Amino acid sequence: MTGEPAAPAPAQPQRCLFVSDVHLDVAGNAAQRQFLDFLGGEATHADTLYILGDLFESWVGDDSPEHGAVLDALAALSARGVACFALHGNRDFLLGEGFCRRTGCRLLPDPVVTTLAGEPVLLTHGDALCTDDHAYQELRSIVRDEAWQRRFLALPLATRQLLADEARAGSRAHTARTAPRIMDVNAAAVQAAFRATGVRRIIHGHTHRPAVHDGQIDGQAVQRIVLGAWYEQGSCLWLQDGRYALHTLPR
Ligand code: MN
Repeated sequence: MTGEPAAPAPAQPQRCLFVSDVHLDVAGNAAQRQFLDFLGGEATHADTLYILGDLFESWVGDDSPEHGAVLDALAALSARGVACFALHGNRDFLLGEGFCRRTGCRLLPDPVVTTLAGEPVLLTHGDALCTDDHAYQELRSIVRDEAWQRRFLALPLATRQLLADEARAGSRAHTARTAPRIMDVNAAAVQAAFRATGVRRIIHGHTHRPAVHDGQIDGQAVQRIVLGAWYEQGSCLWLQDGRYALHTLPR
């Protein structure tokens, strides 16, 4: 994994809030209600919200009529002056310009190095770090190809929806038969990401293993913060006054 050019950082990021893997699916379910409350409540206290991928369980194109309530809530948050940034996850890598126009979110490349509290930090969804999952990485290289995405988006909406449902069933079967260790990040890939970008901190999601991992690379203290998924409860990370705090949000 190599670093992308740094995205423009907000002038004085004071209170940054991070979420990942909300995996919004059925309108009105408990996860969606909790996330809507979060966007209308806790998130309004942030200057910047970073969504580190897999906001949606699937996204078949910006012309999809689904998730209107979430899009409206993001638009309302943006309109209040909270700068909202989103990365693509492995589920919603087709979020595009239409999503940005509708919500006021800005898409960041994955990975991206941005400056937070005066320090360069690598933000990534995290799936690219799971290099032990060869079958997944092969799929990833196919669906992240621009020509593949153009062909897919040219299909009728109903066809895309059908294909996405099949892909999710395939993904569930893969997850069920693959050892948990294979689906976690690869230690060498993490080290390579630290070395390639020179950052001392990485923030990601994807693995659904919320934790703060302190380590050392070449004699330097480094930290990898992993956000949790929102299947059973919420998970968020605050950066305030230069300190990071990972929170579980009970449902
Ligand atoms: Mn993911």
